[in-house]
Amino acid sequence: MAQKKIPGTNLIAQNIFCIGRNYAEHAKELNNPIPTSPVVFIKPTSSIIYDKENLIIPSQSKRVDHEVEIVLVIGKDGKNISEADAYKYISHIGVGLDFTARDLQDKAKEKSLPWSIAKGFDTFAAISHFHPYDGNLEKLSNISFNLTVNNEVRQRGNSKNMLFSIPAIIAFLSTIYTLSEGDLIFTGTPEGIAPLNAGDKMTAQIEDWATLSLGVVSA
Ligand code: ZN
Repeated sequence: MAQKKIPGTNLIAQNIFCIGRNYAEHAKELNNPIPTSPVVFIKPTSSIIYDKENLIIPSQSKRVDHEVEIVLVIGKDGKNISEADAYKYISHIGVGLDFTARDLQDKAKEKSLPWSIAKGFDTFAAISHFHPYDGNLEKLSNISFNLTVNNEVRQRGNSKNMLFSIPAIIAFLSTIYTLSEGDLIFTGTPEGIAPLNAGDKMTAQIEDWATLSLGVVSA
């Protein structure tokens, strides 16, 4: 199995946990209810791509959307982590794109099937270079990030608008999964998701920490 490195760290990517519907305005734009506990799904590490690479729109989908998200790297193992201690488990923070075959996801939702196909194609988890996290707890609730497509701003987000905060996400996930050094957590996308076309150029930015530039090609 090809191991996927985490840029800016010495770590190999382990699990990829993702949170859905974590910003109220995004839940609304897809006509989804506001969740009362975090919506969780998992992506395979085979879906990881890096800065300057291309999203490949698979032949099975007619609509692949961008979802720009804050991505956390877990720096030590933990289970049943308290919200108060959660920040101690973050080693790095970066920006990522959770690509979604929306048409396939809609079909899955209709039939109450899992999202593993809609979320899991090769190239569907893009990650930036990661910035070391300095342990500043307040900063976790004021991280800004954005996405431009063809030089036009499409999505702007700030972690202060999350329905479930970064510490709450870590605490919740750790009640189910043992978190491990090298796990990645995609923390959900703000409003403004839209379909991508071959030839589009995307740039995601988080604070002055990292940028992630990607192209789009068809399979
Ligand atoms: Zn997402």
